[in-house]
Amino acid sequence: MTQLDVDAIRADFPVLQRKVRGQALVYLDSAATSQKPIPMIERMDRIYRHEYARPEEGHSLSKEATAAFEGTRAKVATLLNAAEPREIVFCRGATEALFLVSRIVHHDGLGPGDEVIVTELEHHSNIGPWIQVCRESGATLRVVPILPSGDLDLGRLEAMLTDKVKILGVSHVSNVTGGINPVKRITEMAKAKGILVLVDGAQAVPHFKVDVRDIGCDFYAGSGHKMGGPSSVGFLYGRAELLEAMPIADSGSGMSEDMNFDEITPKPIPFKYEAGEPPFSEVEAWSAAIDYWNKVGLNRIEEYERELTEYARAKVAAIPGVRILGDPADRISVVTFTVDGQEPKKVEQALDEDGIAVRAGNLEAAPLLRALGTEKAVRASFMFYNMHGEADALAASLARIAGGVRA
Ligand code: PMP
Repeated sequence: MTQLDVDAIRADFPVLQRKVRGQALVYLDSAATSQKPIPMIERMDRIYRHEYARPEEGHSLSKEATAAFEGTRAKVATLLNAAEPREIVFCRGATEALFLVSRIVHHDGLGPGDEVIVTELEHHSNIGPWIQVCRESGATLRVVPILPSGDLDLGRLEAMLTDKVKILGVSHVSNVTGGINPVKRITEMAKAKGILVLVDGAQAVPHFKVDVRDIGCDFYAGSGHKMGGPSSVGFLYGRAELLEAMPIADSGSGMSEDMNFDEITPKPIPFKYEAGEPPFSEVEAWSAAIDYWNKVGLNRIEEYERELTEYARAKVAAIPGVRILGDPADRISVVTFTVDGQEPKKVEQALDEDGIAVRAGNLEAAPLLRALGTEKAVRASFMFYNMHGEADALAASLARIAGGVRA
């Protein structure tokens, strides 16, 4: 087992010390958004007390902000092993990043006869935008099915990769099963046919080392707020030559060199895709959280979380009346389940009475839940600041709930 000093780590996340309903908080909802380490909170405080200004090449404060903002861009590029910082576009979260790609591809000339492929295990963020642009452009949306395990049917996927397909969108890690998709292999299959590849890495980046150049994808979306950053921060990675060649998506403030009533002259990348007020304080403060994750070490985080997730999974699976959704070959950080005869929302509320924070509902992945045989489910998600004792607490509480006995 990986030795992480989880007690010391937990001391760096103040909210983990609080009580909920008189009980020690057991926070198992990091897949929605992570808790925040002190260095990030202090960084945010310092920005608002001493440094707050929009990044620009103007007065001194704005220059300082530019250095911090662009410094974070370089840090995110290094985190992902992108070739250059200008391949990173900051946005509010993975949702906005995915939506941005859909509009770029739409403006690039998506039309009737073209196909867009997503998979059955996508989060709504990687489905909704494609429904919209396919409807508006006349393109066809096709869906790669899953196997009963919750893994993608790669045979079916390969057969769907024809020269009609413009882009394939696939998540790196499922937010429901925790399944890690073989995105490098999938990208190779798609690239062999000249198809653009978009990877939704919202559930990957906080949990293990991601290397976009090794994957070989064209676009990669992620959330900073799931990696210790403030709320509403995320990014889109796009290969530089592609971003340079692609049309603009949004226009307005900050994204143009010049504008006329019949023409927009976009700024160079990444700025041409950063229309409007950027989440600059959030980006600058996220930098401190990235440092924290790097200090703990992404390889150690991965090893610890894989082991902790399997530990929790086995405990939950052993409870009579509890059914775990999916059994993917490779997985991390998420355990999703239903309890026989009990509404997921009721289970969520009952766990909350014991101070255990999980999430219930369609988990923003309604098609996947249906494919796995349910409309709604309960999700417990783990981060390296979680302890084995918290998995025990979840299992004990769940056993009482499943047995119909309240503590
Ligand atoms: N994709 C996946 C797989 C997710 O789990 C989530 C968040 N639950 C998103 C996209 C959306 O991310 P954000 O909250 O940053 O918009």
